[in-house]
Amino acid sequence: MLHPTAINMNELFMRKPRLFTPGPTPIPEHVMLRMAHPIIHHRHAEFTELVGRINRRLQYLFCTQQPVLTLTSSGTGAAEAAIATLFRRGEKGININNGKFAERWGKMMRVYDMNVLDVHIPWGEAIGAEQLECIVRQHHDAACVWLVHSETSTGTYTDIRQMAQVIRTVAPNALICIDGITSIGAHECRMDDWDIDVVITGSQKGLMIPPGLAFIALSERAWAKAADVQPRSLYFNLHKAREAWHDNSTPWTPAVSLFIGLDAALDMIIQEGREALWQRHALLSRGLRAGLQAINIRLFGTSPSHAVTVAYLPEQGKKDFIPLLKKTFGITVIGGQDTLQGVVFRTSHLGYYDEADMLAVLASIEQVLHCIGFSFEAGRGVYTAQRLFMGVE
Ligand SMILES: *Cc1c(COP(=O)(O)O)cnc(C)c1O
Repeated sequence: MLHPTAINMNELFMRKPRLFTPGPTPIPEHVMLRMAHPIIHHRHAEFTELVGRINRRLQYLFCTQQPVLTLTSSGTGAAEAAIATLFRRGEKGININNGKFAERWGKMMRVYDMNVLDVHIPWGEAIGAEQLECIVRQHHDAACVWLVHSETSTGTYTDIRQMAQVIRTVAPNALICIDGITSIGAHECRMDDWDIDVVITGSQKGLMIPPGLAFIALSERAWAKAADVQPRSLYFNLHKAREAWHDNSTPWTPAVSLFIGLDAALDMIIQEGREALWQRHALLSRGLRAGLQAINIRLFGTSPSHAVTVAYLPEQGKKDFIPLLKKTFGITVIGGQDTLQGVVFRTSHLGYYDEADMLAVLASIEQVLHCIGFSFEAGRGVYTAQRLFMGVE
C-alpha cells in the first residue's frame, strides 16, 4: 500500500527535474549557455582555435601524449572505429565480458569477422589478475584484449592498471583496449603510464555535455599496428581523424555545438584538476553507498565503480520505487538491464554532482521508502553520508 502523501505531493507541487542516470548526465548551466552560441563554420579559424584548445586538454584528461580524437557519434562509434582501423578479419580478440556494455564489444568484433573469445565473468564482479593471466597465456596470439574500466550496467570497476600489466607481460603484442566510457573523468586512468593501447569515452558521461561525441586515443603501438591494416570503414577511419587532428580539424562535419559545449566543460575539468576530479567521484560514491547501506538497501556487486552505484530494489516496492522517485521528487534513477531488470536500480554520480546532490537523493529515497512501507530508520542514510562527507565517520 502506498502512503497517501506520495500521490498528493505529485499533484500539488512543482518538481525540479534531477537526472541521476549514468549517461546522459546533467549538463552544467555554464556549458548550456555556451552551447547557445550561434553556430560557427567548422572550417573557420574560430572553430580551429577551439578544436586546438579541446585537443590539448583532452590529452591532459586521458593522461596521454597521443592525439585524443573526437568523433561525431555516440561512444559505441569510438569502439567501432578502433576495430575497423586496427584489426583484420580472422584476428583473435579476447573480450572480458562482465556486463551489458562489455558484451557489446564482443558483438562488435564479430560484426567485423574477428575470432572472438568471450570470457564470461559473473555480473557485478571484476576479473582477477590470475584468471586473466591464465586466459591470456592460453591465447597469447590474440590481437587484442577488451576490458571495461567501469561497467555501467552493473556498477563494476576493474583494476585496469593491474590488468594491463598482466596482459603486457604475457602477451606483449596484444593491444589493450579499454572502454573508459564511464571511467574517464571518474577514475584515475593513465593511458601512457599504464601502457594502454586504446582508450575510448563518450560525451554524455563524465564530460558533462549532451550525447553525440565519442573520444578515442591510440598508443604508438596501436598506430603501428594500424599502419598494416586496410581500414574497414570510411567514416570511422582513424587515420583520417588523426591527419585532421594535426590541423585542429575533423575529417567530416563535426557536431559543432557539442564541441562548443565541450570547450566549456573542459574549462571546469581543468579548473578542478584531474586528481581532484577523481577524488570527488570516489567521495560521492562512498557517501552514497554508505548512506544506502545505512537504510537497509543492499548494494549489488563486489567492486564498486565511482561513476554509478547499483543497489537492489527494496523487496516490497520493486515496481513503485523508481516511478515514485520520479513522481514525488523529479528524480530519475534507472533500473537494471537484461537479467537485472526489476532487480536493481542505478544511481549516477558521474560528472556534474556534489555532496549536496548525494544528500538530496538519499533523503528522497528515504521518503519513497517510507511511502512503500520499507523498514528502516528514517534519517539514517542522510546522517551516515553527511558524517562521511564531514569527515566524522
Ligand atoms: C554508455 C556506455 C557505452 C555506450 O555508449 P553510447 O554512447 O551509448 O554508444 C559503452 N560502455 C559503457 C561502459 C557505457 O557506460
